[in-house]
Amino acid sequence: MTQHHLANSELGSLDYDPAPESAQIAKLKGAYGLFIDGQFTDPTQHEQFASLNPATEETLVTVAHASAEDVDRAVASARKAYDTVWSKTTGARRAKYLFRIARIIQERSRELAVVETLDNGKPIRESRDVDIPLAAAHFFYYAGWADKLDHAGFGADPRPVGVCGQIIPWNFPLLMAAWKLAPALAAGNTCVLKPAETTPLSALILAEILQQAELPEGVVNIITGDGSTGSALVEHPGVDKIAFTGSTEVGRLIQQRVATTTKRLTLELGGNGANIVFDDAPVDEMIEGIIDGIFFNQGHVCCAGSRLLVQETIADEVLRRLVRRVEQLRVGDPMDKNTDVGAINSAAQLERIKELTAFGESEGATRYTSSCALPDKGYWFAPTVFADVTQSHRIAREEIFGPVLSVLTFRTPEEAVAKANNTNYGLACGVWSEKGSRTLWVAQRLRAGVVWANTYNRFDPTSPFGGVRESGFGREGGRHGLEAYLNV
Ligand code: NAD
Ligand code: MN
Repeated sequence: MTQHHLANSELGSLDYDPAPESAQIAKLKGAYGLFIDGQFTDPTQHEQFASLNPATEETLVTVAHASAEDVDRAVASARKAYDTVWSKTTGARRAKYLFRIARIIQERSRELAVVETLDNGKPIRESRDVDIPLAAAHFFYYAGWADKLDHAGFGADPRPVGVCGQIIPWNFPLLMAAWKLAPALAAGNTCVLKPAETTPLSALILAEILQQAELPEGVVNIITGDGSTGSALVEHPGVDKIAFTGSTEVGRLIQQRVATTTKRLTLELGGNGANIVFDDAPVDEMIEGIIDGIFFNQGHVCCAGSRLLVQETIADEVLRRLVRRVEQLRVGDPMDKNTDVGAINSAAQLERIKELTAFGESEGATRYTSSCALPDKGYWFAPTVFADVTQSHRIAREEIFGPVLSVLTFRTPEEAVAKANNTNYGLACGVWSEKGSRTLWVAQRLRAGVVWANTYNRFDPTSPFGGVRESGFGREGGRHGLEAYLNV
């Protein structure tokens, strides 16, 4: 007994030994060009920018900044590939390429997970167990559709749209690339993909994988750059469709730009999801679900359960348990396999989180912040819960996109629905109750693209995902996800 106590105090009873993954596995090159027409090429203006590791602020690599001229080259390459190769390739053959890409992603999954974590700041446990396996699963799933489009419910011979411009965010870099590319290629389109400026690396490794899979040149072009590159892609007259995931602000701008053209558009924008907790819900599972709903991926999740709506009768107990659980979250080195919460993706995003949470305090909410130690270098924000939040508070109305939960209460199911729907967004919600009839009653009244019951943040390639109102339109995933890439 005494010995046991000694050992415990020497080690610190709740400490784990560090379990770091090796950064060497990433095998990064010093600099990357633009992936156009099947080759890595120099940008015409020879401009480069750095991609940082947000956990250390160190530069990982430099990547090319694509100008309007480069966008033009990429679109021309996609057009040529569409006209001469891909539109003449049978569905069965397109499927073979997609299966090949999926398998190579699996083979290189450890490397991809390390790259993703270094570039994004998310915990290696999440990139290893969620991002990369799901990215492979999307290619596998849509490979299965490529030769069955006649049976997808879109008529006898649905046609592809043509050249697709795809612009993605930094929160799930490889997974968002897979969500965009897999259905587009299965449906017979060619693509120009632009990753986000803070997380271009996994898309560039994906470009290597496309070479390895011997995907015909120009079918997918990957160009790195910032908003100006994205803007040039949106404006390009040779693009038939734009698919965008990112902020509602930029989504609105893009919608205005394409309004006077024949371009097709799908938008997956922000959210401010409500996790609704009834007093009969299984408490342990529910606490884990709330924690996962907001602290998964540092809260950089468009469908995050950022507003907790808890039935008044159990509010005190739920808050007490949540605060205790938040204290136990392991915050720090994303490369450590025991880490739960990693680095905030960029200095700009950290600034935004700090600004909004300051309003939480000045507007009178009660703040609980984890007492965890934060590293000196890098961008960090300690997991935070705000209690006594009302609907008029900015932290309840705006998307914080960080590890910050706002807790509100309700008395009746009607009040829960009214509060959950009191937002301009409509991406996802969660309902926790033992009573199936009540869960269905609530789910039918929620204005959101996705409603989870007794779980949260469940993703599956067979299931459509997308929003209503200011969260956007169009669906990704499932049979529905094909529609965005077919002329139906
Ligand atoms: P953003 O919308 O500015 O960036 C998303 C992508 O769009 C990036 O690839 C970016 O380069 C590109 N882009 C920027 N301006 C563009 C333009 N004018 N035309 C075409 N493309 C353009 O998002 P952000 O600034 O990185 O994040 C700001 C906020 O957006 C976050 O705080 C969060 O609220 C929200 N967000 C939502 C998601 C989501 O998954 N829905 C993802 C990231 C960010
Ligand atoms: Mn980065």
